[in-house]
Amino acid sequence: MKFYLAIFITFFINISIAQSSKDTEIWEPIPKKVYSISDSAPPNDAIVLFDGTDLSKWEGNWHDKESEWMINDDGFLVNNGNDGPRIQTKENFGSVQLHIEWKTSEDLSYKNQDRSNSGIFLQSRYEIQILDSYENQTYVNGQAGSVYKQYIPLVNSSRKPGEWQSYDIVFKAPEFNAKGEKVKSGYFTVFHNGVLIQNHVEILGTTENVGPPKNIAHGDGPLFLQSHCCSKVSFRNIWLRKL
Ligand code: MG
Repeated sequence: MKFYLAIFITFFINISIAQSSKDTEIWEPIPKKVYSISDSAPPNDAIVLFDGTDLSKWEGNWHDKESEWMINDDGFLVNNGNDGPRIQTKENFGSVQLHIEWKTSEDLSYKNQDRSNSGIFLQSRYEIQILDSYENQTYVNGQAGSVYKQYIPLVNSSRKPGEWQSYDIVFKAPEFNAKGEKVKSGYFTVFHNGVLIQNHVEILGTTENVGPPKNIAHGDGPLFLQSHCCSKVSFRNIWLRKL
């Protein structure tokens, strides 16, 4: 009798824990179809911030909101090569996927941080550095592709001055509670010319030039492009997708 009971129990257990591949299949919700004709062209759900035709999505964030940036005859967005006058989006953003193409100046009369220094500031606070880092020594946590003064890029994927380059940035915005405390960190993942240079790094706070990062509560914010002494930087094909 004990023997048959044991067989029955074994059979019952086998039935109850029998697994099927179907147990772990998830069928819904079905991801939305998004169409993209190339790796650099905006997918059909992207917000195109700059396509060479106008600056209607941008404003200056200096004094009277008039931007000192211009579109040159080639349809590129160019900064004025001076410290200060940034250009920023009129719209505020949270977490985004951003594509941006940029090229440093062939004027090599400046060096270190003065050679085509710009930067992309997510939520006006968190900078991915733009710089001519092809052959231009500087502190490595301030070279092209650094999360400025927080993370050195994994490799240097810089192209020569005057050649177009790209960043594809995944930015996860930090979150703050009602008391103003940061409850979730932000993160950056960055590809430079298709090469992974920042792999889901935890943003420590604002990317300050002087002093430690700050963590003052904020919500969505504009994306701005930095203008910094001394040589100019050009931009084209800027789009993002809200995440
Ligand atoms: Mg910069």
